[in-house]
Amino acid sequence: MNKTLTFKKKVALELFRRIRKNRTKIHDLHTLFWECTLRCNLSCKHCGSDCRVMANQPDMPVEDFLKVVDEITPHVEPNKVMVVFTGGEALSRKDLEVCGLELYKRGFPWGVVSNGMYMTRKRLDSLLASGLHAATISLDGFEEVHNWMRGHPKSFENAVHAIRMLAEEKEIVWDVVTCVNRKNINELKEFKEFLLQTGVKRWRIFTIFPVGRAAQHPEFQLNDEEFTRVLDFIRDTRREGRIRLDYGCEGFLGGYEMEVRDHFFQCNAGIDTASILADGAISGCPSIRANFHQGNIYRDHFIDVWNHGFEKYRNRAWARKGKCADCKMFRYCEGNGMHLYDDNSNLLVCHYNRIIER
Ligand code: SF4
Ligand code: SF4
Repeated sequence: MNKTLTFKKKVALELFRRIRKNRTKIHDLHTLFWECTLRCNLSCKHCGSDCRVMANQPDMPVEDFLKVVDEITPHVEPNKVMVVFTGGEALSRKDLEVCGLELYKRGFPWGVVSNGMYMTRKRLDSLLASGLHAATISLDGFEEVHNWMRGHPKSFENAVHAIRMLAEEKEIVWDVVTCVNRKNINELKEFKEFLLQTGVKRWRIFTIFPVGRAAQHPEFQLNDEEFTRVLDFIRDTRREGRIRLDYGCEGFLGGYEMEVRDHFFQCNAGIDTASILADGAISGCPSIRANFHQGNIYRDHFIDVWNHGFEKYRNRAWARKGKCADCKMFRYCEGNGMHLYDDNSNLLVCHYNRIIER
């Protein structure tokens, strides 16, 4: 019964649907990503962004991003909006602290997503002194697999060093994110023990889908049995209670709903999450295709776009096509996460239909 919804779950999902409708209507902004650079110090085989393609895109000046923040400030409670610096590799920017400190002064919590390559003691201290509130470090398994996926012989060592430093910090919220694929799926139990020994308390797992560079590496993609096995692993680990583990935010997961995450599935892009991309484009999440961009900060006022745009994100009736057209789960899923649509607005993957019923 891992795919089928129990009566109890259906009732809860119906209730959540109402809450979701209301949240969509209100669309309070809670997370603002800033794709602060497309420069990266690694060349990951599964990267969701096409960094190299747009490597000529210069970094957005801090003041341009802060202009958007100042435009937003009167309309939100700053302490309820998390600003997340992402990339590329966010720490490639030397002036991240300048921006972080300005956010801190304005009352916005901020965090960084990083591969850990540049996270030295000195850099972490400087980030903390500028108000760093949250961090996510990518670690895709043990040394051999991680370095192979990241294309750098030192990437594992540096990421683990970053994690060990974060484990000593009491004031910030941080987690480790792991991309599960055919190279590391059989090591998950041992890897969990390693993370526990390293001091990790929060762990997130996502799976590879045919977007970005991953599209060129079909061998990384899990088959349906393997994907279901990953969900079983997450559910069992959560029941065990030794480490807080979640599956990433994408994918309606049928009977696994509430078993592998703390909440029911909802794609929050454009609902409570927005992004300012490297070229100024306004989007829901950083890896959503350009056909869903909603404007550009160099042309439009962000707050106008947030309040009056994002129609495709907030009314997903258009997504009832292809494999979603007759799907009974559409009322709960609404056609999966926005980042899983291609340049022609066609869905690339359905998580639910990959689950194998046992
Ligand atoms: S077919 Fe579409 S609506 Fe149905 S579960 Fe899959 S992605 Fe969701
Ligand atoms: S677009 Fe994807 S990553 Fe962003 S909230 Fe939706 S499911 Fe999550």
